[in-house]
Amino acid sequence: MYRITVFPGDGIGPEVTDQVIKLIRKIGQAHHLVFEIQQSLLGGASIDKHGVPMTPEALRLALESDAVFLGAVGGPKWDRVEPAKRPEKALLELRKSLEVFANIRPVLLMPELVSRSPLKAEIVEGCDFVILRELTGGIYFGTPRGTEGSGPSERAFNTMVYTAAEVERIVRKAFELARRRRRHVTSVDKANVLEVSRLWRKTATAVHAEFPDVTLDHRYIDDCAMQVIKNPGQFDVIVTGNLFGDILSDECAMLTGSIGMLPSASVGGKYALYEPVHGSAPDIAGKNMANPLASILSIAMMMETSFELHEIAREIEQAVRDVLRAGHRTADIAEPGQRCVSCSEIGDLVCGRIGK
Ligand code: NAD
Repeated sequence: MYRITVFPGDGIGPEVTDQVIKLIRKIGQAHHLVFEIQQSLLGGASIDKHGVPMTPEALRLALESDAVFLGAVGGPKWDRVEPAKRPEKALLELRKSLEVFANIRPVLLMPELVSRSPLKAEIVEGCDFVILRELTGGIYFGTPRGTEGSGPSERAFNTMVYTAAEVERIVRKAFELARRRRRHVTSVDKANVLEVSRLWRKTATAVHAEFPDVTLDHRYIDDCAMQVIKNPGQFDVIVTGNLFGDILSDECAMLTGSIGMLPSASVGGKYALYEPVHGSAPDIAGKNMANPLASILSIAMMMETSFELHEIAREIEQAVRDVLRAGHRTADIAEPGQRCVSCSEIGDLVCGRIGK
């Protein structure tokens, strides 16, 4: 039996999560597997009901499960809530509590969607790499942080800090991942300016000695931001810190045509968290028009990474491809003038191909 905790969250989160629950139930039926799904509120939905973005009970459910899925949190309704109680706080706390220090984001352009990428087909065709972002350290968590003073002398500060041990564990994951792919790692930093990046580079180089069958190159973040647009085909696994990874992975999301196509997995030791890369998309929430394929592909990553159900992971990916090949498109990936299917319709179409 596999126990999965599901946090639908806010905005389009519940709509895409419904497709995920339908898919997991279909997989269970088709393959005679038992998935126990438990749901709980997180983010704005939890603030509305309990006054906090994540209750201890919600966290307990996550800690007691084999894998966690999260739709998305946040929205304008909670924009004025004090920082310590904002919906996004739940996300940071959840990641920290689950000790998921490595965020894996595949950047894979499906051949059926080449025309939806804003880049020219000859540049982006065949784009298939993975970004590994450090998730629980760096400037988002470093101390001291804060603001002080007032008027023109008011100042605000954050601290970018990494220990060698934190860099070592994420870089090691990158080399292990590259071994299952095309055996090339690009480590991204800003070592020409930042001490913390010089430690990152030194540590990555030291860990590389354990992986002589994998090649390593180093790039500055500014150069890398340019190279992923100029020649995305050169990358296999990109590993970088929290801040650089946050920005780079959203930039790369655009290579694939729509943020609605991008899954992610956050892993550490014991726990794993799966979520689409996109946010709660308040502009389309409640209209049944969100693209649930990022969430569905996140479940493929869950089957593969948490449960080692490799064939089922391939089956989900194939089902998504077949649905796209048959010409079905949600609004975000449709050609101009094309008839679109809804979020629930595309969910049904994928589920209909499971177990065939
Ligand atoms: P967003 O990803 O929610 O939306 C950006 C754009 O992409 C919007 O036009 C939206 O309609 C579109 N989009 C996103 N997902 C889509 C999908 N599945 N199908 C079709 N179109 C889709 O980013 P944002 O607008 O910057 O943020 C909205 C809210 O989400 C904010 O409150 C933000 O804090 C939150 N957020 C949450 C997460 C998370 O929970 N992991 C991540 C990012 C942003």
